Amino acid sequence: IRWSAGRGWYDAQLTPYASLEIDPANMTLHYAQSIFEGLKAYRHADGSVVTFRPYENARRFQASARRLAMPELPEDLFVAAVDALVKQDHAWVPGEEEQSLYLRPFMFATEVGLGVRPSNEFLFMVIASPAGAYFAGGVKPVSVWLSKEYVRAAPGGTGAAKCAGNYAASLVAQAQAAEQGCDQVVWLDANERRWIEEMGGMNLYFVQGSGKDARILTPSLTGSLLPGITRDSLLRLAADRGYATEERKISVEDWQAGNADGSISEVFACGTAAVITPVGSVKSTDASWQVGDGGAGPVTLELRKALLDIQTGGAADTHGWLHKIV
Ligand code: PMP
Repeated sequence: IRWSAGRGWYDAQLTPYASLEIDPANMTLHYAQSIFEGLKAYRHADGSVVTFRPYENARRFQASARRLAMPELPEDLFVAAVDALVKQDHAWVPGEEEQSLYLRPFMFATEVGLGVRPSNEFLFMVIASPAGAYFAGGVKPVSVWLSKEYVRAAPGGTGAAKCAGNYAASLVAQAQAAEQGCDQVVWLDANERRWIEEMGGMNLYFVQGSGKDARILTPSLTGSLLPGITRDSLLRLAADRGYATEERKISVEDWQAGNADGSISEVFACGTAAVITPVGSVKSTDASWQVGDGGAGPVTLELRKALLDIQTGGAADTHGWLHKIV
């Protein structure tokens, strides 16, 4: 679907996957006016195909567009575009457990010019790719690197938007994490390098205490971390199961001390691609520790199953989160 300042949204097309021709002075290449979303289609046992909370992705896409001075695609058009692609290609939606069709809606500037200003033309597209488990080994715990040298997002910046530049800015820290033998980066706040924000493509959760008295904590939405749809869903699923939940500031010291005295029993990351993944160990320039016993804890596994069961049709969709396409 194209957009221009004069015409608004026009020219919706469903076409076979193909390369695009790009002008060397395309404004996206130089000034990164580019946003995206990620969601999945799942095939249920009865053959039907659903997506999970696609209107939430549509709304977040609009918020990203506003932040990047781009036009807002109407929610219904966003969802209709995703639906049209899935309908056309639904043979690609696998039926096995933990398999899905990953959908990538995105929009970028198509105007040609070297002046720094918002483009007057954009292209919105959706592509798809069959996906299995994000981390090889399923629920294998990941090791994380606390990045104190680099930040992903600063107050007033684009951290709450899903824009290409945020990911470009994170690559050097991801390489540093790999050099340290870690799988993922945990980002801290820009001002104090003290408050835990999120991971590269996932939000974080902390389990305080254990059993049914466990409290489930997640860093508050400060404006510099992405408001994950999985994060939001888990706040509700945890409350459904009787857990106390809290969105609050959590510092590195809180984490380290809670780990040392056993009050933080589990930590996990969550997102569309990885679902829920336990955090097994932490490393930074001045400390390293194992989280709990280093494995996947019971609350992590319970919430993971609760979410996957809804997504894959094994449990009732009590929140009305599934959107049926086929
Ligand atoms: N944080 C970042 C930086 C992400 O890229 C993602 C993936 N979209 C998430 C968190 C998790 O968001 P969601 O649950 O909506 O996939």
